[in-house]
Amino acid sequence: MQPMLEPGSTIGILGGGQLGAMFTGAARRMGYRVAVWDPDPDAPTHRVADQSFSTPFANSDTRERFVDVVQAITLEWENIPAELCEWLEQRRPLRPASAVLRILQDRLTQKQFLSSCSLPVPDFAEVQSVDQLLQATRRLGFPLICKTARSGYDGKGQWLFRQPSDISQFERILNTQASGVRWIAEQFVAFVRELSVLVVRSGRGETYVYPVVENRHEQGILRESRVPASVSPSDAEAACELSLRAVAALHGIGIFCVELFQTQDGRLLINEIAPRPHNSGHYTLDACTVSQFEQQVRVTCGLPLGEVRLLSPAVMVNLLGDEVTAVMSADGCLETFSTPGASVHLYGKRVIRPGRKMGHVTFTAPEVETAVVSAEQFMLRLQRPHSTSPFQQ
Ligand code: ATP
Ligand code: MG
Repeated sequence: MQPMLEPGSTIGILGGGQLGAMFTGAARRMGYRVAVWDPDPDAPTHRVADQSFSTPFANSDTRERFVDVVQAITLEWENIPAELCEWLEQRRPLRPASAVLRILQDRLTQKQFLSSCSLPVPDFAEVQSVDQLLQATRRLGFPLICKTARSGYDGKGQWLFRQPSDISQFERILNTQASGVRWIAEQFVAFVRELSVLVVRSGRGETYVYPVVENRHEQGILRESRVPASVSPSDAEAACELSLRAVAALHGIGIFCVELFQTQDGRLLINEIAPRPHNSGHYTLDACTVSQFEQQVRVTCGLPLGEVRLLSPAVMVNLLGDEVTAVMSADGCLETFSTPGASVHLYGKRVIRPGRKMGHVTFTAPEVETAVVSAEQFMLRLQRPHSTSPFQQ
Protein backbone atom coordinates (compact mmCIF):
# COMPACT_ATOMS: atom_id res chain seq x y z
CA MET A 1 0.00 0.00 0.00
CA GLN A 2 1.19 3.51 -0.84
CA PRO A 3 2.60 5.31 2.23
CA MET A 4 0.59 8.32 3.35
CA LEU A 5 1.95 11.68 2.34
CA GLU A 6 1.49 14.17 5.16
CA PRO A 7 0.35 17.80 4.77
CA GLY A 8 3.36 20.03 4.14
CA SER A 9 4.55 17.74 1.32
CA THR A 10 4.55 18.83 -2.31
CA ILE A 11 2.25 17.26 -4.88
CA GLY A 12 3.15 17.54 -8.56
CA ILE A 13 0.44 18.05 -11.14
CA LEU A 14 0.92 17.56 -14.87
CA GLY A 15 -1.25 20.00 -16.80
CA GLY A 16 -2.22 23.40 -15.50
CA GLY A 17 -5.68 24.28 -16.80
CA GLN A 18 -8.66 25.14 -14.63
CA LEU A 19 -8.85 21.56 -13.33
CA GLY A 20 -5.28 21.88 -12.08
CA ALA A 21 -6.05 25.25 -10.51
CA MET A 22 -9.08 23.86 -8.66
CA PHE A 23 -6.98 20.87 -7.56
CA THR A 24 -4.36 23.30 -6.26
CA GLY A 25 -7.02 25.21 -4.30
CA ALA A 26 -8.09 21.98 -2.60
CA ALA A 27 -4.51 20.82 -1.96
CA ARG A 28 -3.42 24.10 -0.42
CA ARG A 29 -6.49 24.23 1.79
CA MET A 30 -5.48 20.78 3.06
CA GLY A 31 -1.95 21.98 3.85
CA TYR A 32 -0.08 20.64 0.80
CA ARG A 33 2.20 22.48 -1.56
CA VAL A 34 1.76 22.11 -5.30
CA ALA A 35 4.22 22.13 -8.20
CA VAL A 36 2.64 22.39 -11.64
CA TRP A 37 4.14 21.50 -15.00
CA ASP A 38 2.37 22.89 -18.05
CA PRO A 39 4.14 24.08 -21.21
CA ASP A 40 1.69 26.98 -21.58
CA PRO A 41 3.00 29.86 -19.42
CA ASP A 42 -0.54 31.32 -19.39
CA ALA A 43 -2.13 28.16 -17.97
CA PRO A 44 -4.27 29.14 -14.93
CA THR A 45 -2.51 26.85 -12.42
CA HIS A 46 0.80 28.75 -12.77
CA ARG A 47 -0.84 31.67 -10.93
CA VAL A 48 -1.85 29.61 -7.91
CA ALA A 49 0.77 26.86 -7.50
CA ASP A 50 3.78 27.10 -5.18
CA GLN A 51 6.19 26.17 -7.95
CA SER A 52 5.74 26.07 -11.67
CA PHE A 53 7.51 24.66 -14.71
CA SER A 54 6.54 25.74 -18.20
CA THR A 55 8.96 23.99 -20.56
CA PRO A 56 7.71 21.39 -23.08
CA PHE A 57 7.00 17.97 -21.56
CA ALA A 58 9.94 16.57 -23.55
CA ASN A 59 12.44 18.64 -21.54
CA SER A 60 14.56 16.16 -19.57
CA ASP A 61 16.12 18.82 -17.26
CA THR A 62 12.65 19.86 -16.12
CA ARG A 63 11.74 16.21 -15.65
CA GLU A 64 14.65 15.87 -13.17
CA ARG A 65 13.85 19.12 -11.38
CA PHE A 66 10.14 18.33 -11.18
CA VAL A 67 10.69 14.88 -9.71
CA ASP A 68 13.15 16.33 -7.19
CA VAL A 69 10.60 18.73 -5.70
CA VAL A 70 7.51 16.51 -5.59
CA GLN A 71 6.64 13.55 -3.38
CA ALA A 72 3.64 12.29 -5.41
CA ILE A 73 2.19 13.13 -8.80
CA THR A 74 -1.22 13.44 -10.41
CA LEU A 75 -2.54 14.90 -13.64
CA GLU A 76 -5.40 17.00 -14.86
CA TRP A 77 -5.37 15.92 -18.50
CA GLU A 78 -5.17 12.48 -20.11
CA ASN A 79 -3.00 13.62 -23.01
CA ILE A 80 0.22 13.91 -21.02
CA PRO A 81 2.91 11.86 -22.85
CA ALA A 82 2.69 8.32 -21.43
CA GLU A 83 6.51 7.90 -21.67
CA LEU A 84 6.96 10.85 -19.30
CA CYS A 85 4.41 9.34 -16.92
CA GLU A 86 6.24 6.00 -17.00
CA TRP A 87 9.54 7.69 -16.19
CA LEU A 88 8.01 9.67 -13.32
CA GLU A 89 6.15 6.66 -11.98
CA GLN A 90 9.40 4.77 -11.49
CA ARG A 91 10.46 7.51 -9.10
CA ARG A 92 7.28 8.77 -7.41
CA PRO A 93 3.73 7.47 -6.86
CA LEU A 94 1.61 8.56 -9.84
CA ARG A 95 -2.19 8.53 -9.67
CA PRO A 96 -3.63 7.41 -12.05
CA ALA A 97 -0.99 4.94 -13.24
CA SER A 98 0.59 5.29 -16.69
CA ALA A 99 -0.85 1.90 -17.75
CA VAL A 100 -4.37 3.28 -17.22
CA LEU A 101 -3.44 6.44 -19.07
CA ARG A 102 -2.15 4.43 -22.04
CA ILE A 103 -5.54 2.76 -22.38
CA LEU A 104 -7.63 5.90 -21.93
CA GLN A 105 -5.63 8.44 -23.93
CA ASP A 106 -6.44 6.70 -27.18
CA ARG A 107 -10.16 6.51 -28.00
CA LEU A 108 -9.75 3.32 -30.03
CA THR A 109 -7.68 1.50 -27.42
CA GLN A 110 -10.16 2.64 -24.80
CA LYS A 111 -13.22 1.34 -26.67
CA GLN A 112 -11.42 -1.90 -27.59
CA PHE A 113 -10.53 -2.39 -23.93
CA LEU A 114 -14.06 -1.70 -22.72
CA SER A 115 -15.68 -4.04 -25.23
CA SER A 116 -13.12 -6.76 -24.44
CA CYS A 117 -14.39 -6.49 -20.84
CA SER A 118 -18.00 -6.85 -22.08
CA LEU A 119 -18.75 -3.26 -21.06
CA PRO A 120 -21.32 -1.68 -23.41
CA VAL A 121 -20.06 1.01 -25.83
CA PRO A 122 -21.49 2.40 -29.10
CA ASP A 123 -20.55 0.23 -32.11
CA PHE A 124 -17.27 1.46 -33.54
CA ALA A 125 -14.59 0.78 -36.14
CA GLU A 126 -10.97 1.76 -36.69
CA VAL A 127 -10.47 4.06 -39.67
CA GLN A 128 -7.27 5.16 -41.37
CA SER A 129 -8.44 5.51 -44.97
CA VAL A 130 -11.50 6.37 -47.04
CA ASP A 131 -11.92 2.66 -47.86
CA GLN A 132 -12.06 1.75 -44.18
CA LEU A 133 -14.56 4.55 -43.59
CA LEU A 134 -16.77 3.21 -46.39
CA GLN A 135 -16.60 -0.25 -44.84
CA ALA A 136 -17.50 1.25 -41.46
CA THR A 137 -20.56 3.03 -42.92
CA ARG A 138 -21.82 -0.31 -44.27
CA ARG A 139 -21.79 -1.77 -40.77
CA LEU A 140 -22.60 1.30 -38.65
CA GLY A 141 -24.89 3.22 -41.04
CA PHE A 142 -25.55 6.96 -41.01
CA PRO A 143 -25.24 9.30 -39.20
CA LEU A 144 -21.76 8.38 -38.15
CA ILE A 145 -19.26 10.23 -35.94
CA CYS A 146 -15.57 10.15 -36.73
CA LYS A 147 -13.15 11.16 -33.97
CA THR A 148 -9.37 11.36 -33.97
CA ALA A 149 -8.13 8.49 -31.80
CA ARG A 150 -5.86 10.82 -29.83
CA SER A 151 -6.19 14.33 -28.42
CA GLY A 152 -9.41 16.21 -28.97
CA TYR A 153 -11.61 17.72 -26.28
CA ASP A 154 -14.85 19.71 -26.21
CA GLY A 155 -15.86 18.05 -29.48
CA LYS A 156 -12.65 19.13 -31.27
CA GLY A 157 -11.30 16.61 -33.80
CA GLN A 158 -14.79 15.19 -34.45
CA TRP A 159 -16.85 15.07 -37.63
CA LEU A 160 -20.44 14.04 -38.13
CA PHE A 161 -21.25 12.38 -41.46
CA ARG A 162 -24.98 12.41 -42.12
CA GLN A 163 -25.13 10.87 -45.58
CA PRO A 164 -22.93 9.08 -48.17
CA SER A 165 -22.14 12.35 -49.98
CA ASP A 166 -20.47 13.67 -46.78
CA ILE A 167 -17.73 11.06 -47.12
CA SER A 168 -15.83 13.22 -49.61
CA GLN A 169 -15.21 15.64 -46.72
CA PHE A 170 -13.26 12.89 -45.00
CA GLU A 171 -10.90 12.67 -47.94
CA ARG A 172 -10.10 16.35 -47.50
CA ILE A 173 -9.67 15.94 -43.73
CA LEU A 174 -7.35 12.96 -44.26
CA ASN A 175 -5.18 15.03 -46.60
CA THR A 176 -4.59 17.61 -43.88
CA GLN A 177 -3.41 15.00 -41.32
CA ALA A 178 0.05 13.56 -40.80
CA SER A 179 0.34 9.95 -41.99
CA GLY A 180 -0.40 7.30 -39.39
CA VAL A 181 -3.24 9.26 -37.74
CA ARG A 182 -5.93 6.85 -36.57
CA TRP A 183 -9.62 7.55 -36.29
CA ILE A 184 -12.52 5.94 -34.58
CA ALA A 185 -15.83 5.83 -36.44
CA GLU A 186 -18.77 5.50 -34.08
CA GLN A 187 -22.40 4.76 -34.59
CA PHE A 188 -24.34 7.95 -33.82
CA VAL A 189 -26.30 7.22 -30.65
CA ALA A 190 -29.75 8.82 -30.55
CA PHE A 191 -29.57 9.10 -26.78
CA VAL A 192 -32.41 10.40 -24.60
CA ARG A 193 -29.94 11.83 -22.13
CA GLU A 194 -26.27 12.05 -21.35
CA LEU A 195 -25.18 11.09 -17.86
CA SER A 196 -21.89 11.05 -16.03
CA VAL A 197 -20.68 9.34 -12.90
CA LEU A 198 -17.59 10.17 -10.85
CA VAL A 199 -15.88 7.16 -9.31
CA VAL A 200 -12.98 7.40 -6.90
CA ARG A 201 -10.87 4.37 -5.98
CA SER A 202 -7.96 4.46 -3.58
CA GLY A 203 -4.89 2.29 -3.17
CA ARG A 204 -6.31 1.44 0.28
CA GLY A 205 -9.18 -0.52 -1.25
CA GLU A 206 -11.89 2.11 -0.81
CA THR A 207 -14.31 3.03 -3.60
CA TYR A 208 -16.86 5.85 -3.65
CA VAL A 209 -19.29 6.88 -6.31
CA TYR A 210 -20.89 10.31 -6.67
CA PRO A 211 -24.55 10.79 -7.60
CA VAL A 212 -25.45 10.51 -11.28
CA VAL A 213 -25.25 13.82 -13.17
CA GLU A 214 -27.31 14.73 -16.23
CA ASN A 215 -25.45 16.70 -18.88
CA ARG A 216 -26.47 18.78 -21.84
CA HIS A 217 -23.93 19.57 -24.55
CA GLU A 218 -24.09 22.18 -27.29
CA GLN A 219 -21.90 21.58 -30.34
CA GLY A 220 -19.91 18.97 -28.45
CA ILE A 221 -19.22 21.32 -25.50
CA LEU A 222 -20.74 20.82 -22.07
CA ARG A 223 -23.36 23.52 -21.53
CA GLU A 224 -25.02 22.47 -18.31
CA SER A 225 -24.95 19.72 -15.68
CA ARG A 226 -27.65 18.98 -13.16
CA VAL A 227 -27.76 16.74 -10.15
CA PRO A 228 -29.67 14.66 -9.23
CA ALA A 229 -30.27 13.49 -12.79
CA SER A 230 -33.90 13.07 -13.84
CA VAL A 231 -33.69 9.29 -13.98
CA SER A 232 -35.42 6.58 -11.97
CA PRO A 233 -33.64 5.20 -8.89
CA SER A 234 -33.09 1.90 -10.71
CA ASP A 235 -31.54 3.68 -13.74
CA ALA A 236 -29.32 5.71 -11.41
CA GLU A 237 -28.23 2.51 -9.71
CA ALA A 238 -27.50 0.87 -13.06
CA ALA A 239 -25.41 3.89 -14.14
CA CYS A 240 -23.38 3.77 -10.93
CA GLU A 241 -22.94 0.01 -11.12
CA LEU A 242 -21.71 0.17 -14.74
CA SER A 243 -19.31 3.01 -13.94
CA LEU A 244 -17.90 1.14 -10.95
CA ARG A 245 -17.40 -1.96 -13.10
CA ALA A 246 -15.59 0.04 -15.77
CA VAL A 247 -13.15 1.65 -13.33
CA ALA A 248 -12.58 -1.67 -11.56
CA ALA A 249 -11.81 -3.32 -14.93
CA LEU A 250 -9.08 -0.71 -15.43
CA HIS A 251 -7.77 -1.36 -11.90
CA GLY A 252 -7.92 2.42 -11.73
CA ILE A 253 -6.58 4.22 -8.67
CA GLY A 254 -7.64 7.85 -8.80
CA ILE A 255 -10.73 9.82 -9.67
CA PHE A 256 -12.50 8.91 -12.90
CA CYS A 257 -15.48 10.30 -14.75
CA VAL A 258 -17.53 7.84 -16.77
CA GLU A 259 -19.59 9.55 -19.49
CA LEU A 260 -22.70 7.60 -20.48
CA PHE A 261 -25.43 7.69 -23.11
CA GLN A 262 -28.90 6.54 -22.06
CA THR A 263 -30.84 5.24 -25.06
CA GLN A 264 -34.57 5.28 -25.79
CA ASP A 265 -34.87 1.62 -24.84
CA GLY A 266 -33.19 2.27 -21.48
CA ARG A 267 -29.73 0.90 -22.29
CA LEU A 268 -26.58 2.59 -21.00
CA LEU A 269 -23.52 2.89 -23.23
CA ILE A 270 -20.13 4.21 -22.14
CA ASN A 271 -19.10 7.20 -24.26
CA GLU A 272 -15.70 7.73 -22.63
CA ILE A 273 -13.82 7.63 -19.35
CA ALA A 274 -11.66 10.51 -18.12
CA PRO A 275 -8.96 9.57 -15.57
CA ARG A 276 -9.28 12.86 -13.69
CA PRO A 277 -11.82 15.32 -12.29
CA HIS A 278 -14.37 16.41 -14.88
CA ASN A 279 -16.27 19.53 -15.83
CA SER A 280 -19.55 17.75 -15.01
CA GLY A 281 -18.24 17.25 -11.45
CA HIS A 282 -17.60 20.92 -10.70
CA TYR A 283 -20.86 21.03 -8.74
CA THR A 284 -19.11 18.91 -6.07
CA LEU A 285 -17.20 22.06 -5.00
CA ASP A 286 -20.42 23.71 -3.83
CA ALA A 287 -22.83 20.84 -3.24
CA CYS A 288 -20.95 17.88 -1.75
CA THR A 289 -19.22 16.99 1.50
CA VAL A 290 -15.99 16.38 -0.42
CA SER A 291 -15.27 17.79 -3.86
CA GLN A 292 -13.80 15.82 -6.75
CA PHE A 293 -10.58 17.84 -6.33
CA GLU A 294 -10.26 17.04 -2.64
CA GLN A 295 -10.71 13.34 -3.49
CA GLN A 296 -7.91 13.70 -6.05
CA VAL A 297 -5.66 15.12 -3.32
CA ARG A 298 -6.65 12.32 -0.95
CA VAL A 299 -6.09 9.52 -3.45
CA THR A 300 -2.79 10.98 -4.68
CA CYS A 301 -1.47 11.30 -1.12
CA GLY A 302 -2.71 7.91 0.07
CA LEU A 303 -5.13 9.53 2.56
CA PRO A 304 -8.48 7.92 3.38
CA LEU A 305 -11.10 8.98 0.84
CA GLY A 306 -13.86 11.36 1.89
CA GLU A 307 -17.42 10.19 2.40
CA VAL A 308 -19.48 11.30 -0.61
CA ARG A 309 -22.75 13.01 0.24
CA LEU A 310 -24.84 15.39 -1.85
CA LEU A 311 -25.69 18.37 0.38
CA SER A 312 -27.92 20.12 -2.12
CA PRO A 313 -29.35 19.70 -5.60
CA ALA A 314 -27.33 21.75 -8.06
CA VAL A 315 -27.18 22.97 -11.65
CA MET A 316 -23.85 24.05 -13.12
CA VAL A 317 -23.66 26.33 -16.16
CA ASN A 318 -20.42 26.79 -18.10
CA LEU A 319 -19.31 30.25 -19.15
CA LEU A 320 -18.11 29.76 -22.71
CA GLY A 321 -16.10 32.31 -24.69
CA ASP A 322 -17.24 35.89 -24.22
CA GLU A 323 -20.24 34.88 -22.08
CA VAL A 324 -17.84 35.42 -19.20
CA THR A 325 -18.13 39.17 -19.69
CA ALA A 326 -21.81 38.89 -18.69
CA VAL A 327 -20.61 37.96 -15.21
CA MET A 328 -17.70 40.40 -15.07
CA SER A 329 -19.49 43.62 -15.98
CA ALA A 330 -20.81 45.65 -13.03
CA ASP A 331 -24.47 44.84 -13.85
CA GLY A 332 -23.75 41.18 -14.49
CA CYS A 333 -21.82 40.88 -11.23
CA LEU A 334 -24.66 42.46 -9.30
CA GLU A 335 -27.30 40.20 -10.83
CA THR A 336 -25.34 36.97 -10.58
CA PHE A 337 -23.88 37.48 -7.12
CA SER A 338 -27.29 38.45 -5.74
CA THR A 339 -28.99 35.28 -7.06
CA PRO A 340 -29.66 32.98 -4.08
CA GLY A 341 -27.50 29.86 -4.25
CA ALA A 342 -25.28 31.14 -7.09
CA SER A 343 -21.59 30.40 -6.75
CA VAL A 344 -19.29 31.98 -9.34
CA HIS A 345 -15.99 30.40 -10.46
CA LEU A 346 -13.81 32.30 -12.92
CA TYR A 347 -10.66 30.67 -14.27
CA GLY A 348 -8.58 33.81 -14.87
CA LYS A 349 -7.77 32.96 -18.50
CA ARG A 350 -6.46 36.01 -20.28
CA VAL A 351 -7.52 35.17 -23.80
CA ILE A 352 -11.12 34.56 -24.84
CA ARG A 353 -11.76 32.18 -27.72
CA PRO A 354 -15.19 31.09 -28.94
CA GLY A 355 -16.33 28.07 -26.92
CA ARG A 356 -13.37 28.30 -24.51
CA LYS A 357 -14.27 27.41 -20.93
CA MET A 358 -13.75 30.66 -19.02
CA GLY A 359 -15.61 29.87 -15.81
CA HIS A 360 -18.79 28.34 -14.46
CA VAL A 361 -21.64 29.20 -12.13
CA THR A 362 -23.25 26.63 -9.84
CA PHE A 363 -26.79 27.18 -8.60
CA THR A 364 -27.78 25.25 -5.50
CA ALA A 365 -31.29 25.16 -4.04
CA PRO A 366 -33.33 22.95 -1.71
CA GLU A 367 -35.20 21.53 -4.76
CA VAL A 368 -33.59 20.83 -8.11
CA GLU A 369 -36.49 22.61 -9.89
CA THR A 370 -35.53 25.90 -8.19
CA ALA A 371 -31.89 25.51 -9.23
CA VAL A 372 -33.04 24.73 -12.79
CA VAL A 373 -35.09 27.96 -12.92
CA SER A 374 -32.15 30.05 -11.64
CA ALA A 375 -29.87 28.42 -14.24
CA GLU A 376 -32.37 29.03 -17.05
CA GLN A 377 -32.77 32.69 -16.11
CA PHE A 378 -29.01 33.00 -15.98
CA MET A 379 -28.59 31.44 -19.42
CA LEU A 380 -31.10 33.92 -20.85
CA ARG A 381 -28.97 36.72 -19.41
CA LEU A 382 -25.90 35.22 -21.09
CA GLN A 383 -27.55 35.71 -24.47
CA ARG A 384 -27.99 39.46 -23.95
CA PRO A 385 -25.31 41.74 -25.41
CA HIS A 386 -22.65 42.39 -22.79
CA SER A 387 -20.58 45.44 -22.00
CA THR A 388 -17.05 45.77 -23.37
CA SER A 389 -14.84 42.76 -22.78
CA PRO A 390 -11.76 43.22 -20.57
CA PHE A 391 -10.10 40.35 -22.47
CA GLN A 392 -7.97 40.02 -25.57
CA GLN A 393 -10.05 38.43 -28.36
P1 ATP B 1 -15.31 16.36 -23.66
O1 ATP B 1 -13.89 16.75 -23.63
O2 ATP B 1 -16.24 17.52 -23.46
O3 ATP B 1 -15.68 15.21 -22.79
P2 ATP B 1 -14.72 15.11 -26.13
O4 ATP B 1 -14.18 16.04 -27.14
O5 ATP B 1 -13.81 14.27 -25.36
O6 ATP B 1 -15.65 15.91 -25.15
P3 ATP B 1 -16.84 13.18 -26.64
O7 ATP B 1 -17.23 13.08 -25.23
O8 ATP B 1 -16.50 11.93 -27.36
O9 ATP B 1 -15.66 14.18 -26.93
O10 ATP B 1 -18.00 13.90 -27.47
C1 ATP B 1 -18.53 15.16 -27.11
C2 ATP B 1 -20.04 15.10 -27.22
O11 ATP B 1 -20.42 14.78 -28.59
C3 ATP B 1 -20.69 14.02 -26.38
O12 ATP B 1 -20.85 14.43 -25.05
C4 ATP B 1 -22.01 13.85 -27.13
O13 ATP B 1 -22.90 14.90 -26.87
C5 ATP B 1 -21.58 13.93 -28.58
N1 ATP B 1 -21.21 12.57 -29.08
C6 ATP B 1 -19.99 12.00 -29.04
N2 ATP B 1 -20.02 10.74 -29.53
C7 ATP B 1 -21.29 10.51 -29.89
C8 ATP B 1 -21.97 9.38 -30.46
N3 ATP B 1 -21.33 8.26 -30.80
N4 ATP B 1 -23.30 9.50 -30.68
C9 ATP B 1 -23.97 10.64 -30.38
N5 ATP B 1 -23.39 11.73 -29.85
C10 ATP B 1 -22.07 11.68 -29.59
MG1 MG C 1 -16.72 13.69 -23.47
